[in-house]
Amino acid sequence: KTGRIGGDESRIHVFVRIRPMAKKEKEAGSRCCVKIVNKKDVYLTEFANENDYLRLKRLKGRHFSFDASFSESTTQHEVYSSTTAELVEAVLQGQNGSVFCYGATGAGKTYTMLGTLESPGVMVLAIKYLFKNIRQRSFDGNHAVHLSYFEVYNETVRDLLSPGRPLVLREDKQGIVAAGITQYMAYSADEVAVEYQVKDASVNIINRVGKLSLIVLAGSERALATDQRTLRSLEGANINRSLLALSSCINALVEGKKHIPYRNSKLTQLLKDSLGGACNTVMIANISASNISFGETQNTLHWAYQEKEI
Ligand code: ADP
Repeated sequence: KTGRIGGDESRIHVFVRIRPMAKKEKEAGSRCCVKIVNKKDVYLTEFANENDYLRLKRLKGRHFSFDASFSESTTQHEVYSSTTAELVEAVLQGQNGSVFCYGATGAGKTYTMLGTLESPGVMVLAIKYLFKNIRQRSFDGNHAVHLSYFEVYNETVRDLLSPGRPLVLREDKQGIVAAGITQYMAYSADEVAVEYQVKDASVNIINRVGKLSLIVLAGSERALATDQRTLRSLEGANINRSLLALSSCINALVEGKKHIPYRNSKLTQLLKDSLGGACNTVMIANISASNISFGETQNTLHWAYQEKEI
């Protein structure tokens, strides 16, 4: 089942990507605890005693179903074309879209979004495509790409292109914006808004504005920190707040509710124009195959599956 947000054209797609086992994980005698079935389902197996490799015993398994699941051998290009290519095309048509990477620290979120020089990730591939196509389609070469790059941490928004005091959110005619945020022209960053002009047959100039938001969410394990009254618990609570707020907004949108609780966190306020209406949302849940990360993998799959189910 595919959840739909705000009508038939917009929806949320949820994917899972398993990263290859690291040397450390192999050396520690890791066993693989996830298996992809039918290219869509992930089957998670728990072992009786994670430390006793001689008496490994399968305890129970569980199926999670997604739009697609990617194995260790899936290339960056394959991930991009299956998850994000369509959404980027919609941004060129003037719609808004968001791509989220979610998962525990070390699960592959940064690799999926940014990648490396040799194997560029979703963000780099999306921006390459945008620039190439804007130039080709723009009637008179008249196009602009505005780019901002920021971090939302502990309910504080910081401009990463111009570090300094936290940014204040303000509502203006474009929606909710981080006041004074740097808008830059460049070829790689976390958030891009695209504007270009096309001339149709009747010589009307159409000004198209699409916005693409690319978001690496905080390591999901920190959302579970429950230490009492420590900095970690404050962090945990705030990260939890962002993720919870994001879930409730997606929930409310899919259910077609009138009131969408964007106000509950800075992250959702900033994403207001990229989640509702004619928008496309992609979630990529990143996991490791190693049984050492079983707990984190289970949490990630569970969260992602919820997003898929609502
Ligand atoms: P996260 O951002 O979730 O903390 P990273 O993206 O930094 O995790 O990944 C952790 C390590 O695993 C990095 O060294 C990264 O290069 C590697 N890695 C992650 N995913 C893959 C993948 N699909 N293929 C190869 N290496 C990967």
